[in-house]
Amino acid sequence: LMGIKTYYLESLDVKRRLPVRPFNVHKYSCGKIFALVGSPGLTGAATMSTLSAMKVGAGAVIAGVPESLSPILEMKLTEVMKLPLPETNEHTIGWNALDLIEEYIEWADVLIIGPGISKNYETKQVILNVIKKLNKKAVIDADGLNALVGNLNILKSLHNEIVLTPHSGEFSRLTDLPIEKIEREKIEVARNFAVEYGVVLVLKGDTTVIANPEGEVFINPTGNPGMATAGSGDVLTGMIAGFMGQGLSAVDASICGVYLHGLAGDIARDKLGELPMMAMDILNAIPDAIQKVI
Ligand code: AMP
Ligand code: MG
Repeated sequence: LMGIKTYYLESLDVKRRLPVRPFNVHKYSCGKIFALVGSPGLTGAATMSTLSAMKVGAGAVIAGVPESLSPILEMKLTEVMKLPLPETNEHTIGWNALDLIEEYIEWADVLIIGPGISKNYETKQVILNVIKKLNKKAVIDADGLNALVGNLNILKSLHNEIVLTPHSGEFSRLTDLPIEKIEREKIEVARNFAVEYGVVLVLKGDTTVIANPEGEVFINPTGNPGMATAGSGDVLTGMIAGFMGQGLSAVDASICGVYLHGLAGDIARDKLGELPMMAMDILNAIPDAIQKVI
């Protein structure tokens, strides 16, 4: 760790960075989020990653989803708006969706790309096309990260702040590094990646570390093994995007998101137990987590 600036996060680091809502705020001035999410079987990822952005204060969230899933998401999501997108024959986001997607990217402050979006080849081409031309801030997760495998160099030419949120498996696919090395040298590999590609890297795991392009690394103390439950990461993705939408820098949004996500997980654990807790319980504990740090 010689030469790497590392910081252990504490409550005060989050309190200092949290957005303060101006008196004259309105819903379009505190975070317009556009999310490319969802595919058959994975409407839950679309639900949790968008709802959690609103739960941390984002003003308006639109979920761009394959059109045949839109009616289902109209039932599941109340506050989050839906944009039905032209789809592939596997009911994933299709190539014909690109024009509409570009229109809504213009509207948005921040994008969420990836939760539940599937590994469909055509959908992957849509995602790559979107990332190549990205002129907005974004959080890329899950199959959005898988689309980047072999295409990482497109990140180097982007001029807006980008956050990547891989777990060790996704990071191993991105970098070709063995999982054992990633877990053993987490701080170093996270730092090297963030510096090389000019992004904020949130490398998730039992301990999550955040690295910025300046080569600083922040180590998160919150969270527990009960958070190893499907959908947990989707909640984190939305939280980070929600904070970015309210004007936080990519690294500050990641610090607030990761710390509060872990704290919400700890609150859910204390209330329900490590075994019964599920991702929606983490999401529902976000208010108490925020109360605890302020
Ligand atoms: P994902 O695998 O994308 O659903 O993300 C899982 C989320 O849960 C990440 O934020 C991890 O940091 C967190 N998590 C998973 N396992 C643990 C663990 N054993 N201890 C603490 N946090 C965990
Ligand atoms: Mg995930």
